[in-house]
Amino acid sequence: MSLPGEFELIRRYFAPLAGPGSLKLTDDAAVVDLQPGRSLVATTDTVIAGVHFLADDPPDLIARKALRVNLSDLASMGAEPLGYLLVTALPAGIDENWVAQFSRGLAQDQAEFSISLLGGDTAFTPGPLSLTITALGQVERGKALLRSGAKPGDRVYLSGTIGDSAFGLKLAKGEPLTLSPSEKSSLLDRYRLPQPRLGLGRRLIGVASAAMDVSDGFAADLGHICQASRVGALVEAAKLPVSPALRSVLEAGEASLVEVATGGDDYELLFTAPAAVELLLGRIATELALPLTAVGEIRREPGVIVLDQNGRAVELGPGGYRHF
Ligand SMILES: [Mg+2]
Repeated sequence: MSLPGEFELIRRYFAPLAGPGSLKLTDDAAVVDLQPGRSLVATTDTVIAGVHFLADDPPDLIARKALRVNLSDLASMGAEPLGYLLVTALPAGIDENWVAQFSRGLAQDQAEFSISLLGGDTAFTPGPLSLTITALGQVERGKALLRSGAKPGDRVYLSGTIGDSAFGLKLAKGEPLTLSPSEKSSLLDRYRLPQPRLGLGRRLIGVASAAMDVSDGFAADLGHICQASRVGALVEAAKLPVSPALRSVLEAGEASLVEVATGGDDYELLFTAPAAVELLLGRIATELALPLTAVGEIRREPGVIVLDQNGRAVELGPGGYRHF
């Protein structure tokens, strides 16, 4: 089955996703109104088959993950999403059924996150399938959460659990792990369908001193916050929040806390906050039914130090991965 042309694909699959600001994709550009006193927050991300996802991953999940990693970047700034632009480069071999499933995935997440498509472009490519999403959001002027505000004495927090996605990817690639079917599917879900922490990001405005989402891996991303804030951090690996499924992998000796700390693709929020807001953070965690775990402390000395389960300090290069 061959694909219809660009305009027909847009008419059948992308125009139905378009919201009010998009002018139904019939004009040259989208027009987005901001509320008074708010700033526009913009982020973009490209994913390529064979690099960021597996070419035979389900199309609806590819779409939703591509959208969600962008929403996660809005969450990390404390922004509320307004909509998104989508550029697809489709290779030969993609058929109409693929595009139909892909657009259904987008429709599902548009409903979940109350956003719509604002515009984009559809092209055909001799190379691999590539998707670029640009998400737009808004935040109170001057209030966006930045990476640069961490202060010595602040605590380092993580939302949810980390490491699941890295091990979900191993499962998706066919690596054997001693797990029950339900544990396996929980790790695979974390890899395929991250949960952007938009509600948490909004609540952290005025509470967190610095924030970002975990995409490169906890240790590397904490390095990014430390560099931007000109501070360092001391973390206890044993305090890193892990899911019950990943706990079994650790207990079976098939994973180390180091892999948890460096795994990546978690899309949890990593943030710092002064000790004085501990109780408030406890209330926010309860309200959102999302655990917020203190894993370490910001200090003046540069560099991220992770203490392993034996109390052995291992220095991680600034911003870089280092397996130990
Ligand atoms: Mg990010």
